[in-house]
Amino acid sequence: MKNVFVNKHPLVQDSLTHLRNKKTKLQKFRHHSNKICHLLFADAMHDLKTENVDIQTPVGPANCQKLIDEIVVVPVLRSGIAMLFGVLQLLPKSKIGFVGMERDEKTAIAHEYYWKLPKIHKNSIVIITDPMLATGGSIAHLLEKLAKKKPKEIRVVSVVSAPEGIRALQKQFPGLKIFTAHIDKCLNDRKYIVPGLGDYGDRYFGTDV
Ligand code: URA
Repeated sequence: MKNVFVNKHPLVQDSLTHLRNKKTKLQKFRHHSNKICHLLFADAMHDLKTENVDIQTPVGPANCQKLIDEIVVVPVLRSGIAMLFGVLQLLPKSKIGFVGMERDEKTAIAHEYYWKLPKIHKNSIVIITDPMLATGGSIAHLLEKLAKKKPKEIRVVSVVSAPEGIRALQKQFPGLKIFTAHIDKCLNDRKYIVPGLGDYGDRYFGTDV
């Protein structure tokens, strides 16, 4: 699929296996979630703009590169927050916006209940995090609203993606780049990703009791 970047790195795929396994318990789930998100984020930022800077190392002058794009991360609540820990390790100065979307378990349609964003500039690259790109409904809602703020670009990082959600987003937002660890088979009738890994938020936050 065009503009969908599936990260085949063995560390990503190994972590995904642990996340998928229903025997994986909370602590291990968190460990692999943080690790996979860190790696997926590094991938999503591989082409950020840098500028030349002259600095002094303890041994002498060096011409180096400094990041000039600003990163704004917008996790889709609740499970998108689980992805923040991996991101903040990588880019501790990224700004964070919050958008609360809650999915109606009967209709699978999400509605917005919270919205708080930092200022978006023309060098801002906005990264929407949602670990499970299922129908794409919540992400589409965010993309529509965020696009009006005119950032340099908006990208999506998800751990597992469903073809239905990818197709829906790409139809509405041609050129959107999606970074993911896997494209799964399909959605089931409850709009869960198959085989997926279950409810990411429940598994990460320990609410799957
Ligand atoms: N959200 C999840 O946590 N899992 C899915 O499979 C779909 C949406």
